[in-house]
Amino acid sequence: MSTVIYGGEDGLSCIKPVEYYFTANVLVNEGVLQAKCRVKLSNLGAEPENTVQILLNRGLKASSVEQSGRRVIFTQRLCKFPDLKEIEVNLIEIHFERPLKPGDTTWITLAYEGEVEGYEEVFTYARDKIDENFSLIRTDVFSYPVVGAPEFKKLVSLLPSQRFNYRLEITVPEGFKVANIGRLLGYRRKKDMVTYIYVSKLPSWRMDIAVARFKLLFDKEEDLRVFALEEDYVHAERIMHELKRCLAFYREWFGEPVFWAGYTVVEIPEGWGGQADVCGMLLDSRCFRDENEVGGLYHELAHLWNVPSGEKIPSRFLDEGFASYFQLLAERKFLGEEKFREKMKFSRRRIIQMAEKNPILLEIPVASYGEYMVTDASYFVGAWILYILHRIVGDEYFKKAIKRFLKHYSRKPATLGDFKETIVEVCGTRIEKFLDEWLFGNKAVTYLKKRVPLEHLLSAYKP
Ligand SMILES: [Zn+2]
Repeated sequence: MSTVIYGGEDGLSCIKPVEYYFTANVLVNEGVLQAKCRVKLSNLGAEPENTVQILLNRGLKASSVEQSGRRVIFTQRLCKFPDLKEIEVNLIEIHFERPLKPGDTTWITLAYEGEVEGYEEVFTYARDKIDENFSLIRTDVFSYPVVGAPEFKKLVSLLPSQRFNYRLEITVPEGFKVANIGRLLGYRRKKDMVTYIYVSKLPSWRMDIAVARFKLLFDKEEDLRVFALEEDYVHAERIMHELKRCLAFYREWFGEPVFWAGYTVVEIPEGWGGQADVCGMLLDSRCFRDENEVGGLYHELAHLWNVPSGEKIPSRFLDEGFASYFQLLAERKFLGEEKFREKMKFSRRRIIQMAEKNPILLEIPVASYGEYMVTDASYFVGAWILYILHRIVGDEYFKKAIKRFLKHYSRKPATLGDFKETIVEVCGTRIEKFLDEWLFGNKAVTYLKKRVPLEHLLSAYKP
């Protein structure tokens, strides 16, 4: 790897994308993506930057790079992540004509094409490809230029915290539809191809572009959209109904979402994973078709009630822990107490399995999950922490405390310390011991692994 001097104190470049103009032909019959992507970069650091690193899918090759309309020097080569060797990307290094000064912005344009290759060997859900059945372009497999470093640990904290606006012009063969959670500005037809033009509704951390024979269900009153695969359109009405009742439930418990600009659900094939951004979600077919799996929708929707993380390396408690517990609450409300109990038990079993596989979980606090790259555990441990907290303080205080936390940190990043502070503020110092031991200590996993009965846990912390 050639040497790059990073400006960021945490070893990250301070260059961030603030805008994307993404134009692409999605040649579904040939399995090829031809794209031109303009990215506006901003130097948010204190030092001038000479280069920027861009990651592209290993199957995609850049043919030219321009800066403000002029060709610039760049290198590209396949590169494995040092901390996750199975991930290989096309690493592009662009040398600016002049150093990019702190506070300055510049536009770079990359033209590239090729076949998008998934990363199924590492992330079973990352099955992205360009194909006549279903095509997906998203951050996870670097189908568009991702600004960052070729290192998993760094990307995990970098990508969810970036915010950019985007404009898409996606051309597909007639008969196919382009689904995106942004606002559709219009179409252009030329011969037997159609170009869909979308813009982001709110600054986003990711772009997801799906191409298939979609059918769309629209609810004007609440500004909700459901893109269903043709054969699954029969489920679209039910999904719309679930969206509405779950939104109403979360609103009733936790107040208005942190941001709101309408909401779009895009169905993706089974096993391709779910994703959420501030205006919509990708929903796995399994959750779309099977009414018993609607928890996936409740989960992604719950991410609307997340605040930005201010942790150095996010533990994912504030987003995944929260979304997992909100999901459980929605399941209890709509699917019944029994389903809820069953899910809590399942969650505990997962924690035990995870701790057996990776005993470090018995030693470290949730606050360190990011650092030790065990954030997967936050889904389950986080849900249990919120559950016990809820049981100790009761409905009224739980709702009040979470509401206040979300409101207070909607625009400014929160740490786990901030979370504790708000909870103690609302519920009193009686809750301190629990939070210290479960969130900042290792009691959550050790107690759950020992299968300490719920009543014992509650009586240990109830005043
Ligand atoms: Zn999630």
